[in-house]
Amino acid sequence: MRIVEIREIDVPLSGAISNAVVDFSHHRVSLVAVVTDVRRAGVPVVGVAFNSIGRHAQGGILRERMIPRVLAADPATLQAPEGGLLDPARVLACAMRDEKPGGHGDRAAAASALELACWDALAKHADEPAYATIARHFGTVAAAAGVPVYAAGGYYRDGDEVTALRAEVREYRDAGYEAVKIKIGGLPLERDLRRLEAAIDVAGGGSRVAVDANGAFDRDRALTYAQALEPYGLRWYEEAVDPLDFALTAELAEAYGGPIATGENLFSVQDVTNLLRFGGLRPDRDLLQMDAGLSYGLTEYAGMIAEMERRGFARAAALPHGGHMLNLHIVAGLGLGGCEAYPGVFQPFGGYTDACRVEGGLIVPSDEPGFGLEAKGGLDQHIARLVA
Ligand code: MG
Repeated sequence: MRIVEIREIDVPLSGAISNAVVDFSHHRVSLVAVVTDVRRAGVPVVGVAFNSIGRHAQGGILRERMIPRVLAADPATLQAPEGGLLDPARVLACAMRDEKPGGHGDRAAAASALELACWDALAKHADEPAYATIARHFGTVAAAAGVPVYAAGGYYRDGDEVTALRAEVREYRDAGYEAVKIKIGGLPLERDLRRLEAAIDVAGGGSRVAVDANGAFDRDRALTYAQALEPYGLRWYEEAVDPLDFALTAELAEAYGGPIATGENLFSVQDVTNLLRFGGLRPDRDLLQMDAGLSYGLTEYAGMIAEMERRGFARAAALPHGGHMLNLHIVAGLGLGGCEAYPGVFQPFGGYTDACRVEGGLIVPSDEPGFGLEAKGGLDQHIARLVA
């Protein structure tokens, strides 16, 4: 299997929503197609993926650095030693040639779209869903019957903050979600607590509601919220402080008895290792949310999971950021703790195809070959334009 062409376009996210830090109305996402020389039923096998959600499109890095390196490589150096198929780890290493270590920023997202498109091509070549290809590669047992899922919403919108939130959480509950996540930190504490109490009331208990501050808090605010939140017995308290402030994360873990979650803004095995060394996270309750779509793809992400396990965390403690088809297949393939879902927002990338059923708090991956992105309404037309 050889790569004959790599295409990329960027696609805007629809909807005007914000968390405590970011307004997503101007965000775009890189959609990448890796065209191979293998044909099935007369049509080339094309791997497709994107760089998750939340870190902007990365067309410049892809066009100017990564795609030329991969296309210039001797094809044999991008293939697995046996079988002649593409090796995503080798493609990633090639895309990263002449890049210095450390400083994992936008290039980690650029590389992930390219690396994950290779996994999509491998799964399509095998004519199977990506979770099956991933499980076979990493020697895991795929959770084909479904993985836990929660609805991530509760964004700040203009207008009545409590009535609209109650309606939103009720919609999630009616759609089969048993847990939800809402944003905090965009309003003063008292108003955030009124929103939280409304969400808990509709969801049916604090253990069904997580909160996410998106790294917005300084020390005082993080600890003030910790004290205020603890009595609610929440599902978790997410990204209270700067994701790279491991000392403050450790202080928070000392101060807050419930589960805390972080990691979605760490993009390398080394960063995750440092979080686990210095961040005070507790293997018996805390959760890690790194996202393969932001962090060089599945090769690097699998290394993060291995590092977690070396340090006493179960893989069920991994709940990737990014509620979309890529992470559904990764969670199911690696047997991780669960997925998020963004019902109705971050379109056309967020959410799942109609064939992915949500039942009893689980989401069941569909059986389309690869990540199944071509079956996702709204995204299908962009893929058609990219591949045409
Ligand atoms: Mg988050």
